[in-house]
Amino acid sequence: MGRFSNKMWKVLGAQSTRNQSRSVAQIEQSAAFDEWAQGLSDAEFPDAALALDVYKPKSEDRAKFIAIAREAAGRALGLRPFDVQLQGADRLLEGDVVEMATGEGKTLAGAVAAAGMALSGRSVHVISPNDYLARRDAEWMKPFFDLLDVTVGYVTEASTREERRDAYARDVVYGSVNEIGFDVLRDQLATRAEDLISPKPDVAIVDEADSVLVDEALIPLVLAGSVRGDVPQAAIMEVVARLRQGKHYEIDADGKSAFLTDDGAKLVEEELGGIDLYSDAHIGTTLPQVNIALHAYSLVERDIHYIVRDGTVKLINSSRGRVAELQRWPDGLQAAVEAKEGLAQTDSGEVIDTITVQALLQRYALVCGMTGTAIAAGEQLRQFYDLGVSQIPPNTPNIRVDQPMRVYDNKGNKVAGIVEYVREVHETGQPVLIGTHDVAESEELAHMLKISGVVATVLNAKNDADEARIIAEAGTKGAVTVSTQMAGRGTDIKLGGSAAGDDSPEHDEVAELGGLAVVGTGLHDTERLDQQLKGRAGRQGDPGTSVIFASVEDPIVERHLPLKTPPRGADVDTGEFSGTKAADMLDSAQRVAEGAMLETHANTWRYNQLVNQQRDLIMGRRHALLTTDKPLVEFGDLESERLEERRAAGISDEVLEQAAREAFLYHLDRVWAEHLAFVSEVQTTIHLRALGRQSPLDEFHRLVVEEFRKLPEEAVRRTRETLQEAEITENGIDLDGADLGRNTLTWTYMVHDNPFATKGMANMFGLI
Ligand code: ADP
Ligand code: MG
Repeated sequence: MGRFSNKMWKVLGAQSTRNQSRSVAQIEQSAAFDEWAQGLSDAEFPDAALALDVYKPKSEDRAKFIAIAREAAGRALGLRPFDVQLQGADRLLEGDVVEMATGEGKTLAGAVAAAGMALSGRSVHVISPNDYLARRDAEWMKPFFDLLDVTVGYVTEASTREERRDAYARDVVYGSVNEIGFDVLRDQLATRAEDLISPKPDVAIVDEADSVLVDEALIPLVLAGSVRGDVPQAAIMEVVARLRQGKHYEIDADGKSAFLTDDGAKLVEEELGGIDLYSDAHIGTTLPQVNIALHAYSLVERDIHYIVRDGTVKLINSSRGRVAELQRWPDGLQAAVEAKEGLAQTDSGEVIDTITVQALLQRYALVCGMTGTAIAAGEQLRQFYDLGVSQIPPNTPNIRVDQPMRVYDNKGNKVAGIVEYVREVHETGQPVLIGTHDVAESEELAHMLKISGVVATVLNAKNDADEARIIAEAGTKGAVTVSTQMAGRGTDIKLGGSAAGDDSPEHDEVAELGGLAVVGTGLHDTERLDQQLKGRAGRQGDPGTSVIFASVEDPIVERHLPLKTPPRGADVDTGEFSGTKAADMLDSAQRVAEGAMLETHANTWRYNQLVNQQRDLIMGRRHALLTTDKPLVEFGDLESERLEERRAAGISDEVLEQAAREAFLYHLDRVWAEHLAFVSEVQTTIHLRALGRQSPLDEFHRLVVEEFRKLPEEAVRRTRETLQEAEITENGIDLDGADLGRNTLTWTYMVHDNPFATKGMANMFGLI
């Protein structure tokens, strides 16, 4: 697996070429209407645009719309779209993911498509990489939308309920995938139809589409409420603390899961009174607790995965180097880590509801998007979303020079090589952007650079707006910027600095020096991410260079080609290899990594699919409860005696209906949360449960389907009980009094580094 067969490429390629020439023809056709569009007054735009059937491809209407968009953007934004941008918009209207290089103006292409869709009566979400860009793009494009009488809004973390509701009522809404996803999840807390915020998902135009649709696809968005987590029993914590790696437990190569050896299991079983961990009595109770304790002791490290501040455990998001303020570990891990640190137990999170980015996007009737690297993600986009890709050529040919990879015999020599290279380039005044894999690496490199006299700016800012501000200056003469892959994505790097115009002396001076020099500190798990980094240089026909430094000791080699002996013949002084052998080794490690990633993705997808469908069923039920009189019908006849009593007491049917609704919603949400906990537990133990039986996936399906089948009945049973017992007055049902209060404290987060996710996954595939 991994790369596609030649045949696949050819098929994709031919299709793509055909589509591209269609778009070119469409844009050419639109030129005939330029004069017509120029003749329209501002006030005439909306009606002229509304009269068109924008969706009809290859039509005169589409051509007219494109002419209107060109004219309107020119007038409203001072940006007259290039033909290639309109080609991109045309393919977006066809529902493709379009590939347009960094700096080609994807924001405007997306806005043109959004306007076209909105004019056809669709409601559009433009999914931005982060809050900062959501707001920037909505405000930047607003005059264009205004001119076409298309309403536009945005949501960010700071938006109030009212602002969100207002934004979603607009034709086009900009928002990050997490904010929109959290709104979908928070609708889970509504007990009245009027409290719902999220509208029906219709069209999603996804910016940086490969990052959202592929790289982040499996990241769960979580709505959590506080509960007391079960700490593993003290006896378990105590014995697990004494286990030794290598003898009692092993950690797998990627450092994401730990498992007991036979010796370890034996010791634990003895210390816990001679039990059998894998017996029916313990496999679902004691064993998970042992696993959690083992996880807390062996995999979760202080100052790497979390810090202890003010007497509490705070998680660190390693890819961003930030404290993830609201995130807590699930399933007792939080409590176990607190116990390990000897801290007081705080409330842990109970997952009320969760949805992956992939499932969130699949709710939309139409998904399309744009990114600098769509073709390389083509196979996944097709497989998981049934999306086609289109390549749009750059407006000005790309003249960036990608130098061959430089490979070293070890990490120390690699870093020395990077420092030397950066120092030399920096002396000429050419700006340098170094892309690292995580914040720790950034800090280390900046430190080494400093020792050699080069002062670098490190992107580890606390928020996206600051990061954007810093990276926008990465093209300034003499700048050296160190940044991780994700940081500052979506921000334009202009040669000469953010204030420099394309024809300014500052721009030209840096262009003379060779433009932006991009340096990579190692291969990513997929070539696509390397391309993303390289694409930072050579924007809009600017000069630029890129080079990746690697070593045969890099983690990618360690993880994916552990048994391979590195080639000989590195230079004795510098440690750099000549020839291509070492580079070939790195390339094949990347191919293996990519294959493994695709496989994990496909597998995880199969597991997630079932729970996604179950979620849809529950949500459908929930929605019906909120918006119809079903609750009273459902429970009215069943509780007729109590009902009559209450009617006699002067309580209106309206109040009774809402009471039944709230009680049922409460229990439905409870059984769903319990189900999610069950699923997560099955995930972590499935390879044990499936031992000797059928495939883990079949076993997972069997268990999760069986459990889900019980849910509706259980919710109904509990609701009936509640309706019998709870106090109902004309003020409604007293759920709090019946000890059925909803979580008043809820929060949302994304699980970027959830140790359980990977562990569960690894286990599910019988330890990949
Ligand atoms: P991308 O998302 O493709 O990297 P952006 O949408 O951020 O690119 O735009 C990059 C830069 O190009 C911005 O500074 C923008 O003002 C400029 N730009 C976009 N479209 C045009 C245009 N038609 N004419 C001139 N400049 C443009
Ligand atoms: Mg962009």
